[in-house]
Amino acid sequence: MTENSGPLLELCGVHAAYHGITVLHGVDLTVAAGQVVALLGPNGAGKTTVLKVAAGLHPPAAGHLLTGGRDVTGIRPSRLARAGVCLIPEGRGVFPNLSVRDNLLMMTFCGRRSREEIEETAYGRFPVLAARRGQQAGTLSGGEQQMLALARGLATDPAVLLLDELSMGLAPLVVAELYELVAEIARQGVAVLVVEQFAAAVLKIADHAAVVVRGRIQWQGHPDGSLQAELSSYYLGSPL
Ligand code: ATP
Repeated sequence: MTENSGPLLELCGVHAAYHGITVLHGVDLTVAAGQVVALLGPNGAGKTTVLKVAAGLHPPAAGHLLTGGRDVTGIRPSRLARAGVCLIPEGRGVFPNLSVRDNLLMMTFCGRRSREEIEETAYGRFPVLAARRGQQAGTLSGGEQQMLALARGLATDPAVLLLDELSMGLAPLVVAELYELVAEIARQGVAVLVVEQFAAAVLKIADHAAVVVRGRIQWQGHPDGSLQAELSSYYLGSPL
């Protein structure tokens, strides 16, 4: 993973609120092409809200959102998606009653790729999905559902990939495998912002990490030993 250009995603002094209660208090974060940035923090810290702001789903109360250097603050999520910002929400974002294949083919809506291309690329990247193409998505294992969610997101050819709690409910080995795939996606030039509550798996592939606590970035830098030491105090003793 290399930083090979300027930031594709920038949050500058972002404040966000729900029903008048401010939950982000001036968040600054950048993600460059080819970079994996891990956004960590305890429950309720504001991690998902950062992703919602980045995807245009929650307009900032103050501050700016930029993609590729362009100020896109306040533009509709559908326009941001067309501009290459893809959010894979917590809970996998697949249609459980549809087959793997139909979940993938729905992605032709964005008009970038043909049905054949979408299937070929998805099955090339995630061979297990090819073997299960006729299976209902809801009956896939948790890890396979995450792969399908990733394959659906990648069918839009995103420049920026936003991942919320990829590891949720999955065994450590499955999580490690998924993060290797995420690292490979970043190597192809995608800017990846990953939210995780528990850090260990994502830190193995992250180029940069930020820790958000009560709506403020408390620490950011290279995810080395000093971060591991700091994290336990931010999490007030939660296991990593
Ligand atoms: P977790 O790790 O538990 O998912 P998080 O770090 O992702 O938490 P957020 O989901 O961004 O945190 O929530 C930040 C704060 O905003 C929390 O206090 C939460 O209760 C509040 N919040 C989030 N979504 C809403 C909403 N739709 N309406 C009102 N308050 C909300």
